[in-house]
Amino acid sequence: MTTPLHDVRHADEDLPEGAVVDGDAIDDAISDVFDVVIVGSGAAGAVAAHTFVEAGLSVGIVEEGPWVKTRDLSPDVHTVFSRALRAAGMQILHGRAFMPMLQGRCVGGSTLVNSAIAWRIPEDVVGEWSSRFGLGDDGKDDDAITMRDLEPCFDALERDLNVREVDDAVLGENNRLFVDQARRSGYVAAPMKRYDRGCKGSGFCITGCPNAAKQGMSVTYVPWALRRGARIFTSCRVERVEMKGARATGVRARSASGHDVVVRARHAVVVAASTVQTPNLLRRSGVRAKALGRHFQAHPGLAVSGLFDRPIQMSHGATQGGESLHFRKTERFKMETISLPPDLAGARIPGVGAELAERLAQLSHVAVWAAQVRAEAEGVVTPAWVGGDRVRYSMTKNDVGVARKAAATIARMLFDAGAREVWPSIYGLPTVLRSKDDVRLIEEGPLDSQCYGFIATHLFGAARMGPDPKTSVVGRDFGVHGAEGLYVVDSSVFPTNLGVNPQHTIMAMSRLAALRLGRVLTSRRVAA
Ligand SMILES: Cc1cc2nc3c(=O)[nH]c(=O)nc-3n(C[C@H](O)[C@H](O)[C@H](O)COP(=O)(O)OP(=O)(O)OC[C@H]3O[C@@H](n4cnc5c(N)ncnc54)[C@H](O)[C@@H]3O)c2cc1C
Ligand code: SF4
Repeated sequence: MTTPLHDVRHADEDLPEGAVVDGDAIDDAISDVFDVVIVGSGAAGAVAAHTFVEAGLSVGIVEEGPWVKTRDLSPDVHTVFSRALRAAGMQILHGRAFMPMLQGRCVGGSTLVNSAIAWRIPEDVVGEWSSRFGLGDDGKDDDAITMRDLEPCFDALERDLNVREVDDAVLGENNRLFVDQARRSGYVAAPMKRYDRGCKGSGFCITGCPNAAKQGMSVTYVPWALRRGARIFTSCRVERVEMKGARATGVRARSASGHDVVVRARHAVVVAASTVQTPNLLRRSGVRAKALGRHFQAHPGLAVSGLFDRPIQMSHGATQGGESLHFRKTERFKMETISLPPDLAGARIPGVGAELAERLAQLSHVAVWAAQVRAEAEGVVTPAWVGGDRVRYSMTKNDVGVARKAAATIARMLFDAGAREVWPSIYGLPTVLRSKDDVRLIEEGPLDSQCYGFIATHLFGAARMGPDPKTSVVGRDFGVHGAEGLYVVDSSVFPTNLGVNPQHTIMAMSRLAALRLGRVLTSRRVAA
C-alpha cells in the first residue's frame, strides 16, 4: 500500500485542483460520472472511498455537509455545532425520554467531533452475529463476516490512523484518576487507544481537533482519497438513488446553493449516510424491505461528576482517555472518562441559577466519568413529517437498570478516589451526594429513563444485514436485497450494537465491503 500523506499541518489543505466541488458555491446544475458513487464522507464513506481508489476505481463522494477545515475550527461549541452537526446538535430520539442524539453533518461526519476511541468488535459479538443472524462462515460463499475477515482490515486501519495508547504526558488527571481508581476497585481498566498523531491534550475533541492530531476522516481518508483521484461534492444532499429497474445508476442531489447535482455510477452506488439517514434515503429511492427502519439500536450514555478538594483540570488531557470494559459482558455497560468544555458542562452539571453558577465556578476541581449502556431496546427510523428523519426509541426497564448500576458503580469509585461530593444527575435524587453511604440512593433510584440525562452518539441497525430478505435489508455482500449495484456500508447494517465504541468496527466493515466489491468490479473490467 502506498504511504498516505501524514503531514498533519496540511492534512486538509493543498488538495488537487478540482477535487472538491463546493455545493455552496456552484451556480448551475452539474453532472458527473464515476465507477463508484459514495453517499456520505464519515467513518464508513471515507474508508470505502479510499479503499476503492486504492483498487484503481474512480470515485465520487457526495456529502450533505460542508468541509469544516482545521483552520476554521473554534473551541466555541455553538460555532462548531451549528456548522458541523445535524440540527446544530439539537436532534433527539423520540420516546419515553428526551434523549439528545449527536451526529456530524460535514466532511468526516461524526469523526470531526468524536473522541477517536478505537475498539475492535468483541469476538463474542461476531459470534452472536453468526449464530443469531446468519453472518458466519457457511462453507458455501466467501461473503461471511468473521473475525478472520475483519482482522486484516483492523490492522490496516490501525497502521493508517496510528492507533496508540494515550501518551502519559497528555493523559491528564481526569483520565489518570479514573484508571488508578478503577484498578484499586478491582476492575480491569486502562488508558484508551485512539487514532492519534500527536495529541496535545487540549480536551477539545468535541469541537474538532485544532491540531489535526485526532485522525478523523476529514484529515485522513477523505484527503488521501482525493489526492489519488477521487472527487467530493460537499454541501450536496442526496435526495435519492436513481434506479433503472432494479439497477442503481447514480444519485440525484441538491446543492446548498439550490442546484441539481447528478452523479452517475458506472458500477455501484455505496450508501454510507449513517444509521439514521441511510434507511430514509433507501426509502426515497424505492427500497421497500419490511425490515427497513426497524431494529435501530444505541448505546445510551450517562455521566456522573465528582467534586474534589484538589484540582482535576479536565481542560488538560485527552478528551476521553481512560476506560474499563470490566462490566461489558456481565452487566452490559462500559465505563469511560469524558472532559467537557464549560459550555457543555453546564448541561451535565445539576442545578440552575446561582447554584449552577457556583458549581461551574468549581469546574477545575470536577471529574466527569461516564458509562455507555449496551441497551437491548430497539427503535424505528421513519421520515419526519417536517422533512428529515425521526427515530422512535425508548429504553427498556432492564436497560435503565443497567444504567442505574453503572451510575452507582461510578459514584462509589468517585468517593473512593476522594471526591467530596458526587453529582449523580438523576431526577428524584438529591443533586449532591455527600458520602459513599448515599450511593444506595442511586441503587434504589427510579427505573424510568425520563429521570436520567442520557445522550446517544453510538447508533446501529435500521438496514440490518442478513441472508433472508424477509428479515433483513442487505445481504451478506452488503448489497440491498432485490437491487443491483446498490450497497450499504455504514452501521445501519449491524444486526446488533457492540458494547464498545463503534467507529473502528464501522470502518473495518466498510473496508471489508469495499475490498470485496472492488475485487469483483476490477475483475469485471479486466474481463471486459
Ligand atoms: C460526539 C461523538 C463522540 C463519539 N466518540 C466516538 C469515539 O470516540 N469512538 C467511536 O468509536 N465512536 C465514537 N462516536 C461514534 C462514531 O463517530 C460514529 O459511530 C461514526 O462516525 C458513524 O460513522 P458513519 O459513517 O455511519 O456516520 P457519520 O460519521 O455520521 O457520517 C455520515 C455522513 O453522511 C452524510 N449524509 C447523511 N445523509 C446524507 C445525504 N442524504 N446526502 C449526502 N450525505 C449524507 C452526513 O452528513 C455525514 O457526514 C462518537 C460520536 C459522536 C457524535
Ligand atoms: S484532546 Fe488531543 S485529539 Fe482531542 S482535540 Fe485536543 S489535541 Fe486534538
